Amino acid sequence: MTLLDGKKTSEAIQDEIAAEVAAIKAKGGKVPHLAAILVGNDGGSVTYVNNKVLACDRIGFGSSLIRYEDSVSEEELLNKIKELNEDPEVDGFIVQLPLPKHIDANKVLEAIDPKKDVDGFHPTNVGRMVAGLPAYLPATPAGILQLLKRYNIETKGKHCVVIGRSNIVGTPMSILMSKCTYPGEATVTICHRNTVDLAHHTRQADILIVAVGRPGLVTADMVKEGAVVIDVGTTRVPDETRKSGFRLRGDVDFDNVAEKCSYITPVPGGVGPLTIAMLMTNTLRAAKHEVYG
Ligand code: NAP
Repeated sequence: MTLLDGKKTSEAIQDEIAAEVAAIKAKGGKVPHLAAILVGNDGGSVTYVNNKVLACDRIGFGSSLIRYEDSVSEEELLNKIKELNEDPEVDGFIVQLPLPKHIDANKVLEAIDPKKDVDGFHPTNVGRMVAGLPAYLPATPAGILQLLKRYNIETKGKHCVVIGRSNIVGTPMSILMSKCTYPGEATVTICHRNTVDLAHHTRQADILIVAVGRPGLVTADMVKEGAVVIDVGTTRVPDETRKSGFRLRGDVDFDNVAEKCSYITPVPGGVGPLTIAMLMTNTLRAAKHEVYG
């Protein structure tokens, strides 16, 4: 069994980006700039956004963090998005989710210029991804593709079973695995809450990708010998031995499943660390006008 090391892979990708930024700087080119909008003080969101800003510093990107109180109006937020859409200094930007209930998240995401939508959530980027056109790919599925690629895992002709159909993970993952590019060319099954006999499907998976948010959902009896298992789940469970008071658990019963696998991601340290690397990749692509020309 080989552990798919997301931390090491993420560092390698960020080192490659940093080298490219250094080369751009040396030639006197424009340094890529990522802006992030954060609404409110939710602990998880603050940490995620701070980590994104720190990553920008580390690899040499410019960055700006725009913060609002929970009470910000939808109109004010939309005005800021318009401003960022038109700001030539900003190559890409993100609006950290979730947003307060009085703000329509879809309206906000659709207001972002697709050319600057480095989270890849705008319907234009989703549509382009489905059509096989150049697009910003959402970070988590793109990170999983990188893991498969960098560990040279064969995907062509394999049966890939994805559990979960969210817009940010399960659905784009299933589409990307079915595309006629590597990693892809797989036969894909997508499972959800109403799937009858989940284990019947998972046992057929050469590649099993689980994005649900239910710790321990996938047990050893549900996994085929030699399968590649990618665990996206990250649920905070109480843990008094930790300073934070919690630890992260995946959707897969790692201790019992790992011994049956050819490759498996740990939680934490698997898919999670790739998210930032892929956001940085999208920002670099935005700065280089790679997607929309
Ligand atoms: P989500 O929007 O809540 O979607 C969960 C999906 O799981 C839904 O499609 C749901 O089906 C399905 N589901 C729920 N219970 C199920 C069951 N018993 N059997 C089969 N399917 C079931 O979650 P998400 O945003 O995709 O995130 C999933 C997990 O990944 C979470 O733990 C999240 O924290 C984690 N995550 C991690 C990263 C990262 O590491 N970077 C990024 C994103 C998400 P229905 O559609 O039928 O309701």
